[in-house]
Amino acid sequence: MATYIVIIGPPGVGKGTQARILAEKKGLPHISSGDLFRENIQKQTDLGNLAHSYINRGELVPDSVTISIIRERLSYADCKNGALLDGFPRTPGQAEALEDMLHEFHGRVNKVPYISASNATLIERLSGRLTCRAQGHVFHVKFNPPRVAGVCDIDGSELYERDDDKVETVERRIQVYWKLTSPLIEYYRQRDLLVEIRGDQPIEQVTAQLLAALETN
Ligand code: AMP
Repeated sequence: MATYIVIIGPPGVGKGTQARILAEKKGLPHISSGDLFRENIQKQTDLGNLAHSYINRGELVPDSVTISIIRERLSYADCKNGALLDGFPRTPGQAEALEDMLHEFHGRVNKVPYISASNATLIERLSGRLTCRAQGHVFHVKFNPPRVAGVCDIDGSELYERDDDKVETVERRIQVYWKLTSPLIEYYRQRDLLVEIRGDQPIEQVTAQLLAALETN
């Protein structure tokens, strides 16, 4: 059966960074709903234009839109053995839709690592976060600086500050997370899939704990 890993946690906890590392180590495609939206925004598709208005306000894109973009992505051949989902699901409605989809694709969620941190840590991490234009690699001016200022270590593209990482939007994103997304912690705990890892540790330590958690059944 295909292996699907869902990584959850508040914005700024290091989900994206860890998801990329884990996906590579596990040989699974890294599916980030935020990256899919940003690609569409860059290409100015209808979906991108719609998503843009929600993202810039720090709100969630409506479930129906988000579910259909993920359903399409999971139907690609590279996901036939599973995927690592980063940023989806973000509401209980999305989690239920994911269960239905995976049933259809003959898979199920195997594990849900939950990376936790206090609001103070999240705000500190989100201000100063830098994202690469080409592929969304993530750096931080203080906690994970690039070798050359303003340039992605991995693909050499320009680093920029996401509009929704600006201080006005960050607080809203954190509020939205606690209100709409945090119920997923209980949702997956009840299904015995949740593993909590503290995100306020060095990147390598979080990775090591995530890998250890994914080894256990
Ligand atoms: P991220 O890159 O995961 O921080 O996502 C950036 C923004 O994209 C979020 O603040 C939301 O506005 C939107 N977004 C990403 N994933 C979802 C989702 N699963 N449901 C609704 N909106 C989402």
